[in-house]
Amino acid sequence: MHLKQELFNGELILDSLEQNIFVKDVNSVYIFANNTYAKLLGKKPSQIVGKNDLDLFPKEIAQKYRDDDTIVIQSAQVIDIEEDIIVGNKKRVIRTIKKPIYSNGEIVAVVGIFWDITNEKLEEKKYEKLQSGLMQAQSLANIGHWELDLVTNSLYWSDEVYRIFGLKPQEFGATYEAFLKHIHPDDIDLVNNSYMNSLEARIGYHVEHRIVRENGEIGYVEETCEHEFDADGNPVRSIGTVHDITKQKVVQNELLLASTVFEKMNDGVLITDSQQRILAINKAFNKISGYTLEDVKGKRPAMLSSGWHDNIFYKSVWDAIISKGQWRGEIIDRKKDGELYTAELSIIALYNDDGILTNYISITNDISAKKQQEKLIHNLAYYDYLTDLPNRVLFEERFVSRLSAAKRSGKKMAILFIDMDNFKNINDTLGHLVGDKFLIEVAKSIKALLREQDTFSRLGGDEFTILIEDVDSIIDIVPVVKRIVNTFHTPVEIEDKKLYSGVSMGISVFPDDGETYEALIKAADTAMYHVKESGKNGYQFFAQSMNDKITERVFLENNLRNAISKDEFFLVYQPKVNLETRSVYGMEALIRWNHGESGLIRPDKFIHVSEETGQILEIGLWVAKQAFIDTKILHDEGNMLTVSINVSSKQLEDESFVDDICTLVQDTGIEISYVELEITESHIMNNVDKALAILNRLHKKGFKLSIDDFGTGYSSLSYLKKLPVQTIKIDRSFVLDIDKDEDDRVIVATVIAMARSLGKDVIAEGSETKEHIDTLKLLHCHKIQGYYFSKPIKIDAFREFIRDFKGEGKSA
Ligand code: C2E
Ligand code: CA
Ligand code: CA
Repeated sequence: MHLKQELFNGELILDSLEQNIFVKDVNSVYIFANNTYAKLLGKKPSQIVGKNDLDLFPKEIAQKYRDDDTIVIQSAQVIDIEEDIIVGNKKRVIRTIKKPIYSNGEIVAVVGIFWDITNEKLEEKKYEKLQSGLMQAQSLANIGHWELDLVTNSLYWSDEVYRIFGLKPQEFGATYEAFLKHIHPDDIDLVNNSYMNSLEARIGYHVEHRIVRENGEIGYVEETCEHEFDADGNPVRSIGTVHDITKQKVVQNELLLASTVFEKMNDGVLITDSQQRILAINKAFNKISGYTLEDVKGKRPAMLSSGWHDNIFYKSVWDAIISKGQWRGEIIDRKKDGELYTAELSIIALYNDDGILTNYISITNDISAKKQQEKLIHNLAYYDYLTDLPNRVLFEERFVSRLSAAKRSGKKMAILFIDMDNFKNINDTLGHLVGDKFLIEVAKSIKALLREQDTFSRLGGDEFTILIEDVDSIIDIVPVVKRIVNTFHTPVEIEDKKLYSGVSMGISVFPDDGETYEALIKAADTAMYHVKESGKNGYQFFAQSMNDKITERVFLENNLRNAISKDEFFLVYQPKVNLETRSVYGMEALIRWNHGESGLIRPDKFIHVSEETGQILEIGLWVAKQAFIDTKILHDEGNMLTVSINVSSKQLEDESFVDDICTLVQDTGIEISYVELEITESHIMNNVDKALAILNRLHKKGFKLSIDDFGTGYSSLSYLKKLPVQTIKIDRSFVLDIDKDEDDRVIVATVIAMARSLGKDVIAEGSETKEHIDTLKLLHCHKIQGYYFSKPIKIDAFREFIRDFKGEGKSA
């Protein structure tokens, strides 16, 4: 009764509530139902009271409600469940709470309350969605928010704030003091003051500070905060955001660092875009090149090129950049003012994360200074400070490095060792300064006489050395040697003073005088001392044989020049005998030189020299003229002999030779068919086509032609056939042993047979003995020239010889 009274006191209120409320006794019989619940079941409250669920609901549902009641009653539990039910065809969410009702400590009834929370649920879901969206946004933006309730001093952090501090959400007891704990010690005052000041000033604040994450990492955050105040103006709440700016900060710091480095670097840096247009340069680059950013911006680095490198070089650079991403090397560029500089350059291609080329960076290290330093050191080690010539060390190195090449090519090398004759005197009387200047002038004068490839060095003092390479014949270096000696026949002028000093030069030759540098330098030095001893001012070879050769050569050259005008040449004639007719049918004119002092000089000695100097042209014509004159007289006397003259290759190469000799034929009145020209086989074989052309011309003019020294020049039958020659003259070397040497005999026999088959005549020269003659006869060679019959003799003697000739040789 008591209970009921209590309940009914509140009945009115309960009836007005939206919630469905009921009370059941411990036997699950309804003792109360409010209006809402009754309405829901389509009844009046009075129709429910006294009934149980089995009376009101289908059996299954009723049983379930009964079970719930039992739980509440027996285990004194509260049931609070949400469940979905279908009303009509709509889904609704229902929340049900069942609680025990106690009276004097005993459970006497169950109160149930349930209501439709469908709309609430929807709102909740919306909010949740919003909430999670916000969180996501915060997380994406690295922004968290916090609220500080200043009344309760409770702090709320959004999940993102936790994340920023490196904490697990909600793990951390959020208070303002706890927050301060996570601020970088150095920034605590800043943050604290910002907050306190802003609170006092009643305006928000904005501060950037460092934090220490739970794992000790340092981060950067940007905080903003606003305050809320109550009606009395007391602060009640602070609301703030925390923005994690660590990443930006790092990038910013890196950029700052990079730009500081960029500007402070000693190396010049140039950055272009992917199209190689210049974007930026640093101070160092400006210093190195002289260009400012305005000068180069938007232009291409090619504008810096010096013109020293060819396209192949630049192509190799770009090939490397494209294939390897970078290139490193030395390059010569040009400064703004035109000056060149040597730089150690690195060019790097920069790609972004997607692998797309974005920039090129070139780092220039001006090494001109370093180069100069290196050069200086190199110069000190290898060059003479006074004359800038290579020094002793470099000279030796050069020699040694060229040695193997010389050995391979088989060519000679010459070392010229020069010592100034009067240097000591100049130095002692005029002082070292003049002495130095003198040496510089000497170096200049000598250098001017040398070729680029000759190595000219100063060994020290007044000693100079020259290395001449690629020497075919020692004779070849005589001209330059003489030029050097002759240069110092005129004085060297220093400060209006005329300083006379000849040179003494010693020459050694590789490999003739030695195979090593030491041996050759010593030999050249020795030769130089011989010059000094024999009166200075001149040159000498180390090997006496060379000196002789050179002396003779120089003598011949000098004396040949005047031999014709001095009438020193004369001719001798050697008869040509026909064994079959036992008669002299011709003669060979051979030149002799009667040099006043040196006596008779044989042609073997001077023809070669005259060929080299070109004097042979004049000499050859002199011989022809003299021979024609002598022969013409013989002809006039009734001795119709053929005269043979030797024609040098140099003469045949001379354009005017054919005309000149024809003129002589006319002038002397000799019958041309009695003139034979002997031309050596080797000359013809040197250039067959050219020789053939000239021989044809001579042949057409009416000259007889003969191949001299046959067997030494590798003739082939096919050429022989084409040549307009009448006679083949077998070389003396085959005749020499023809009676003893079977091989020689076979060769001569072959030549004779071959000549026959071609319709050519054969003559054997150098026949000295009866045995020679007999053998040649057996081989059917009937024309003979040689000492056996006569040595070459003067024309008067020759005239007597033919008059007395009986067809027999001397031993006959
Ligand atoms: P070559 O044309 O082969 O002349 C023949 C040489 O053999 C001559 O020497 C002659 O004296 C020598 N001789 C002849 N019979 C004998 C012999 O039985 N035994 C030996 N041992 N020698 C013999 P030579 O006069 O000293 O002439 C030498 C070379 O000089 C000639 O060789 C010729 O190539 C050249 N030469 C001579 N005179 C002239 C000339 O007027 N013009 C040109 N271009 N060359 C000439
Ligand atoms: Ca001859
Ligand atoms: Ca000959």
